[in-house]
Amino acid sequence: MKEIEIKDKKKFLEENYPFGEVPDLEDIKRCIHCDSIFLVKDFKVFEGESGFQYISCPNAPECDGTVIDWFNVE
Ligand SMILES: [Zn+2]
Repeated sequence: MKEIEIKDKKKFLEENYPFGEVPDLEDIKRCIHCDSIFLVKDFKVFEGESGFQYISCPNAPECDGTVIDWFNVE
């Protein structure tokens, strides 16, 4: 896995977010893997062998959480 630099994170999310409603860059989420709270805009992107790009936790690669591990903070 290698980290990919994303110039336009808003556009990247709009094109790659795997679920229904695309979060705002200023939204706050919690990663259940490392239990950290972060702003969506701090996400990282890693590309696997297959070329698939994973929307990852800001604490990656130390944390292996990806976008499916993000929960809303009430
Ligand atoms: Zn994490």
